[in-house]
Amino acid sequence: MIRITQLKLRPGEDEAELYKKLCRKLRLREEDILSWKIVKKSIDARKKEDIQIVFQVDVEIKKKECAIADHLKSAQIQLIKEESYRFAEPGAEPLKNRPVIAGTGPAGLFCGYMLAKAGYCPILLERGGSVDEREEAVSKFWKTGILDPECNVQFGEGGAGTFSDGKLNTLVKDPARRGRRVLEIFAEMGAGDEILYEQKPHIGTDVLKQVLKNLRREIEQAGGEFHFHSKVAGLDIEGGRLTGIHVAGTKKEGGQFFPADCLVLAIGHSARDTFQLLYEKGLDMKAKSFAVGLRIEHPQQMIQISQYGETFAGLLPPAPYKLTARSKDGRGVYSFCMCPGGYVVNASSEPGMTAVNGMSNRSRDGRNANSAMIVTVSPEDFGNGHPLSGIAFQRELEKAAHELGGGRVPVQLYGDFKEDRMSSSLGDVLPDTMGGNHFANLRRLLPEYLNRALMEGIEQCGQKLRGFDRYDAVLSGVESRTSSPIRIERNASMEASVPGIYPCGEGAGYAGGITSAAMDGIRVAEAIAARFSPRLLQS
Ligand code: FAD
Repeated sequence: MIRITQLKLRPGEDEAELYKKLCRKLRLREEDILSWKIVKKSIDARKKEDIQIVFQVDVEIKKKECAIADHLKSAQIQLIKEESYRFAEPGAEPLKNRPVIAGTGPAGLFCGYMLAKAGYCPILLERGGSVDEREEAVSKFWKTGILDPECNVQFGEGGAGTFSDGKLNTLVKDPARRGRRVLEIFAEMGAGDEILYEQKPHIGTDVLKQVLKNLRREIEQAGGEFHFHSKVAGLDIEGGRLTGIHVAGTKKEGGQFFPADCLVLAIGHSARDTFQLLYEKGLDMKAKSFAVGLRIEHPQQMIQISQYGETFAGLLPPAPYKLTARSKDGRGVYSFCMCPGGYVVNASSEPGMTAVNGMSNRSRDGRNANSAMIVTVSPEDFGNGHPLSGIAFQRELEKAAHELGGGRVPVQLYGDFKEDRMSSSLGDVLPDTMGGNHFANLRRLLPEYLNRALMEGIEQCGQKLRGFDRYDAVLSGVESRTSSPIRIERNASMEASVPGIYPCGEGAGYAGGITSAAMDGIRVAEAIAARFSPRLLQS
């Protein structure tokens, strides 16, 4: 296979032109090309007057590839060997029971997919409903304010990322190619082949819902079993090992019991009651740093022009941004989970508390861009060294946000936030909030040292992206579920301090985002498969 880098098109130019360009670059005729595919696509917008779309393309040709590459001697033409991901060879240790996975977010689903495909017939327990039930519960919450604490934006099939922008980029480097495998599986489940080569791939809420249903079907066909409305609410530990799982909900709501010697805890960062249970059961865990802040909305058109200039703004997809700054007291302030053409969502999961996040559809055609502007907080900020102290810190902020917004999302113009006064009318930026909004003075939400850090950060970002610090940018709060406030310790074989329990994904502190959580799910599936035989011990 030959890989060609630095093939370029102008915005608006037809991608079919690439074919001609690659033939010219290889000095071959079209009939010499057996096949070709785009493997990377990015936008080079460093020079606004000369924006380029840059491609990497893999080509198979009829002639001897090494001869061509040698002959052309260009740094942009290389011979490559396509490496692919390989799952673990099965181990020999017998399992008495089918492996159980708690949580069907990306970590649980990808762990379940791998185990099911390898013949382990996993049981997947999910406290929330299926994606359709969940859509109903979430839209009811956004319309009426009536929250289902077990089925919401955080809980239910697909986990926290179901109502999201579905961004799939990750900073995790993985020579074993788990990240690539995650994208391939998403694409096979209907997320679209573009995610395999776009520099910043995203799925979008509308498409993701169908992808999740396809993934469930695939896991079931391979021998996996899903139980919705089934919250892990108790664990039997005998002789220091896991022996069984108590589930609150169904078997016609009388609850269920699963004998178990292998439980994957892929419960996400919002399962506060389950963290409490695990703490009481003696699992080693500690509080960890995460970040809190406010979401900020601007017109997407402003971001588009700032990133791409007037000439090309209309020819390119909705632009993202990533901004960082530093406050005078040395705290990092940064944009997070940016949603081009998206919506701010009320992402609460506990009654009497309000947390926000962002989502978008595949087309990212909403009028606003939004992102969280956040500041890292560490266990020293939480007041005591208790492992669950970060949760208490989050809850305080979310309660304050709920009071300020009267159950709706509290919002304020950035200019009024700076002047410490409640907004009384909107400017040109019209907030797009799923779940309704209400004017409030958000200066009463976060501790003042964080307010100051945010203001300093937003001002600095205004120097990098014109208009970012505009008076009428709309803030909303509170952004408190950025990552897990806890890390559950696990050893080299991926087990917690209680053998048989495998902490996994974002909630356990081993991932941040959809792709890295899915990759961690695969890593845990590998650890289970490498150790245990897929054949159950006959009793
Ligand atoms: P989760 O996805 O949180 O899944 C955990 C699952 O476990 C949940 O379904 C929960 O119901 C279930 N559960 C919890 N406790 C129990 C129990 N006791 N028994 C049974 N089940 C239980 N990340 C990105 O990379 N890109 C984005 O664009 C993006 N946008 C986001 C938008 C929103 C609105 C939100 C809320 C998050 C977003 N994220 C995004 C973050 C991303 O969703 C998470 O990083 C990711 O989902 C973590 O995966 P996970 O599987 O570890 O946990």
